[in-house]
Amino acid sequence: MKLNTLRSTYTDGLEFFGKLSPYELAAKYGTPLYIYNEKILRERCRDLLALSDHPGFAVNYSVKANANLALLRIIRSEGLIADSMSPGEVYIAMQAGFSADQILYVCNNVSGEEMRYPLERGILVSVDSLRQLEELGKVNRGGKAVVRFNPGIGAGHHKKVITAGAETKFGIGAGDIPEMQDILARYEMKLAGVNQHIGSLFLDPQGYLDAVDVLLDLARAFLPDLELIDFGGGFGIPYQKYAGQARLDLTGMAREFDARIKAFSRETGYRGRFLIEPGRYISAECGLLLGAVHNTKNNGNIRFVGTDLGFNTLMRPVLYGSFHDIEIYREGAGPDNNLMPQTLVGNICESGDILAKDRELPEMQVGDLVAALDAGAYGYVMSSSYNQRLRPAEVLIDEKGDDILIRRRETLEDLLHLTPINI
Ligand SMILES: *Cc1c(COP(=O)(O)O)cnc(C)c1O
Repeated sequence: MKLNTLRSTYTDGLEFFGKLSPYELAAKYGTPLYIYNEKILRERCRDLLALSDHPGFAVNYSVKANANLALLRIIRSEGLIADSMSPGEVYIAMQAGFSADQILYVCNNVSGEEMRYPLERGILVSVDSLRQLEELGKVNRGGKAVVRFNPGIGAGHHKKVITAGAETKFGIGAGDIPEMQDILARYEMKLAGVNQHIGSLFLDPQGYLDAVDVLLDLARAFLPDLELIDFGGGFGIPYQKYAGQARLDLTGMAREFDARIKAFSRETGYRGRFLIEPGRYISAECGLLLGAVHNTKNNGNIRFVGTDLGFNTLMRPVLYGSFHDIEIYREGAGPDNNLMPQTLVGNICESGDILAKDRELPEMQVGDLVAALDAGAYGYVMSSSYNQRLRPAEVLIDEKGDDILIRRRETLEDLLHLTPINI
């Protein structure tokens, strides 16, 4: 096992960087750099495919978590389908090879005009309010509709689902069903699918399973037209890698989930698809963001470590206060267990540009490389060119351990790509 040192046991154990070291990758591609490991991505796909062997079961990857074409092709090759929420996500999913029946369009607050984009390509559209169902009717008379429900309708019987229901601002409630039927009838549309998304990163499956029960109960009312029942995403990952945070118990969950959908099929004769809609679980752990330390400075008790990982490259810590574990690589050095509180900041001119606050880490110095782990979901897709910094490159470590550039770094010219020069 190759040691990348100071603090690297997690990626060392996975041989995350393949044949090259993080120093060699940084020298070859520069930093900041997103690096993805194909083997881990495939494992995460298979973890979720193992939730059920029911022939109608499918894993509907939420493209918004990471839309890199190379990753989408890998995900597709594992047999997943694609959940898209904008014309851009449909476009990229189709470029990755997903066919119309392998894409679901889940939208909220969009124009009827926008809905034409998936409809013209034969893709099912899911709406999440009565007013949006009406818009869909206007552009899809005589067609199919998918409706997103709020599982809060399980009230009373399922305490945990109430929490889930209250947390999600999307979907229509049980009280809206008669009016939904009127709208469907008015536009001669068929209800082809029902879906939900309980919203949050869960590490205890019980709330999700309760919501599965609620949606299955509701689905009974819409048989036999129904072709698709989609239970949503939210499958969590342990971000606290070095604290040994436990993984979601997918084996236990599989037993419960599989039993529920098989019982439903048996009791109702339903022959359509059962979908789950994970984003983060599939792509977060295969990716990390590699950066360099350019400055250190002590302010009272706190040691600030200045890096090139501004929030233009990884927004989650600033946007949600999210935790990403940090690794530190220093060529030739041994592991260091002398810890001190340090705060990692980026190079954006905002005092809030903090990647990791008050972390107990080995003392960092200029020239070290650092990595923010679990950055494969909601990482690059949320990056920007704020401060006119260039979006990072993305590299894939394939199953043989070879590195492949899957998106080049932006250039200065890219910053003026959309601006006519002679204005
Ligand atoms: C974001 C989103 C997902 C994926 O959520 P994760 O927490 O990444 O699993 C699934 N479905 C819908 C409708 C979403 O908006």
